[in-house]
Amino acid sequence: MEKDHAIQTKPLSIGILGAGAAGLMAVYCLSLEAENWEKAHKQKFPAQITLIDRNKKPGKKLLATGNGKCNISHEDIASYSYYYDQVPFLEALFQAFSPKKLLQFLENRGLLLKTDPAGRIYPHAEQAKTVLDFFLRQIKEGPVTLLSDTKMTDLLYDPTQEKPFVLQDEAGHSYSFDRLLLAVGGCSGKNFGTDGSFFPTLQKLGLAVTPLSPSLVPLKTSFPLQKDLKGVRAKGTARLFLDSSFLAEESGEIQFTEYGLSGIAVMNLSRHLTDPAKKAVVELDFFPHMTEKEVMRYLEHLVSLYPQEKGIFLLDTLLQQTLGRVLMTSLFPKKSNQPSRLFTKEELLFLAKQCKGVPFPIAGTMDFSFSQVTRGGVKTEMVYPGTMESKTIPHLYLAGEMLDVDGPCGGLNLTFALLSGYLAGQALFDSLRLS
Ligand SMILES: Cc1cc2nc3c(=O)[nH]c(=O)nc-3n(C[C@H](O)[C@H](O)[C@H](O)COP(=O)(O)OP(=O)(O)OC[C@H]3O[C@@H](n4cnc5c(N)ncnc54)[C@H](O)[C@@H]3O)c2cc1C
Repeated sequence: MEKDHAIQTKPLSIGILGAGAAGLMAVYCLSLEAENWEKAHKQKFPAQITLIDRNKKPGKKLLATGNGKCNISHEDIASYSYYYDQVPFLEALFQAFSPKKLLQFLENRGLLLKTDPAGRIYPHAEQAKTVLDFFLRQIKEGPVTLLSDTKMTDLLYDPTQEKPFVLQDEAGHSYSFDRLLLAVGGCSGKNFGTDGSFFPTLQKLGLAVTPLSPSLVPLKTSFPLQKDLKGVRAKGTARLFLDSSFLAEESGEIQFTEYGLSGIAVMNLSRHLTDPAKKAVVELDFFPHMTEKEVMRYLEHLVSLYPQEKGIFLLDTLLQQTLGRVLMTSLFPKKSNQPSRLFTKEELLFLAKQCKGVPFPIAGTMDFSFSQVTRGGVKTEMVYPGTMESKTIPHLYLAGEMLDVDGPCGGLNLTFALLSGYLAGQALFDSLRLS
């Protein structure tokens, strides 16, 4: 699209910065309201909406979500599904527009959804593209101009001006607006256009930003045989200890990479790793449905059945083989190749204990480019939860991941982006006070 620096010619101009889930949802709502308004009033909608993104096309990250299938929500989302300090804000937001209402809205508007056995909700077509197409189909109908491939580097605010918001792009062009929605995301996945570079601009405007760190991100370990575990997948419970104190646990898939641990269970723990000074250990329990005693009894049973088998057999018959072998080699470097009958009761007890909690020393998280979501962002106290309007700057709205809200894996982050985008879109329309 040609860059249009004369968008102020229309009576009212609305800028939406960021064509991710939140920005697209807001523009969708505005476009729908505009269409209805035009039908009812039989005249042109008296506002021009400009959707701006630094990427060449809108929805780049959306297309990558849920491994290309877009885990858009979860059947069981409540405010307390997110993290403790975010609950009051989300409670108020859900009263204005709840996750259930969001799902009804999407289905009523033609986006059929389906739920997997774990409660995760996807588009029925299991393709993220269906979701992006859903937004774009409506946006095409409304008074929306798409300004792509345009990275904004600054925002000036002067309430004395007729159009108080002026965005400036990398090339030094200015774009003035009466109303502005910021939906620039966090710092996660910079190849999708989100590198956090807009946060200093927000701080300059007086918007408080909480510390930013990668979340839903793989962990680096200093486990000596880590490289040998590359590619292994297992199910279990991961428990996080900081300075020897238990902090949190998550169950589900655990993936081993060359450098550390990944998979949903581990990624969900990652948001707690914000202080590198604290010694972090993740204990992996590969037998969450058995007690230590039960594991011990079963190990003794195996020894009695197969006393001549090498020690390594004790774990490679109970766990994914590579995982079993590597763990056994690390725990009993010499004995793992000797007959199982030579294991003493104490050694079997030690083995049972390790099966219930193999300690992986953590050497930090991978960086933002590996993370799915950002912990931290603009303080939620800075916006009204029913409209997403700034409490300090009238007619400025903020939505999505750029706010200090993040959730565990399972559709919660897209849900928040869509809910807040919807509320901002509706509030923007209401702010036009059209009769
Ligand atoms: C690989 C991956 C998989 C994921 N899978 C899921 C999933 O299945 N379910 C789920 O709930 N969550 C998932 N997430 C998280 C989810 O995608 C995000 O939380 C959500 O997209 C946030 O939406 P948003 O609109 O706030 O921000 P974003 O989607 O990040 O969009 C922000 C937009 O702003 C643009 N932008 C930023 N700065 C500027 C600027 N200065 N100038 C112009 N444009 C700018 C960016 O280009 C981007 O398009 C995943 C994330 C990743 C990285």
